[in-house]
Amino acid sequence: MGKVYLIGAGPGDPELLTVKAARLLERATVVLHDSLVSREVLALIPVAAEIVDVGKRAGQKLLTQDEINSLLVSYAARHEIVIRLKGGDPTLFGRAGEEIEALREAQVSFEIVPGITAALGAAAAARISLTDRRAASQLVITTYSRGEDAANSDPFAATPSLNWAAISSNTTLVLYMPGADYSEVSRRLLAAGQPEDLSCVIVSNATRPNQQIRHTTVAALATVDKLPAPALLIVGRVTATQIDTLASVGAQHAAPHVRTMEALSSKPQ
Ligand code: SAH
Repeated sequence: MGKVYLIGAGPGDPELLTVKAARLLERATVVLHDSLVSREVLALIPVAAEIVDVGKRAGQKLLTQDEINSLLVSYAARHEIVIRLKGGDPTLFGRAGEEIEALREAQVSFEIVPGITAALGAAAAARISLTDRRAASQLVITTYSRGEDAANSDPFAATPSLNWAAISSNTTLVLYMPGADYSEVSRRLLAAGQPEDLSCVIVSNATRPNQQIRHTTVAALATVDKLPAPALLIVGRVTATQIDTLASVGAQHAAPHVRTMEALSSKPQ
């Protein structure tokens, strides 16, 4: 029985792979990858290796999660090293949980090799500090979960929705998979009490040659043209381009932040 490596491929730029990921890829004989993994990273896989695209694209599922789990186990029976390559970090919004469980059940040994998640790639691309101490004290990485109507098609419907009470003016919110409808995202942020003029930034294809960065505000987001996938949205005062803005708005919102931190610390972990 071989070993499965759940490897983070990072946001796209192959130079952002870890040394360990790059070393393992060089030795690969079989790689199962998602559609998020960039072409440049896939190019590092030896030509002789078997490459299986298990990615899902816009509703067109290539393989079910159960099929992917079974494939990992069966490849591990035939290969010394099996590489499961996922975009960003394998454990963030990447269904690693199901794969880990399947490997455990089948008693296949495995190891997780972390990667640079899209939020960090995007923040670097937009040249912002996610926890700039003048404007942020917490970072929430989440996914935009659609309305009740879409619950059946929402892959994260099983996950409890975002606890808006924990979001304060000192929170930086990173929304993965913001979807096609920014006006819906804008509406939900406003409904949750986010100020209309709160700055946010959309980063599309972070760290890739076709990277695009669009600064906007929560209200104006509704009318911004959709950027190509993969894209994410960073909401919060740290995304403001003027340091002055960060400092002055920060003073004004100090109180709600304190309340939130108390609420968080009183919660059972
Ligand atoms: N495991 C991945 C996330 C998978 S969810 C990670 O850690 O990054 C897929 C979502 O990630 C996309 O819908 C998009 O919101 C985000 N994403 C992934 N790569 C990205 C990139 N290069 N630029 C911007 N967003 C990206």
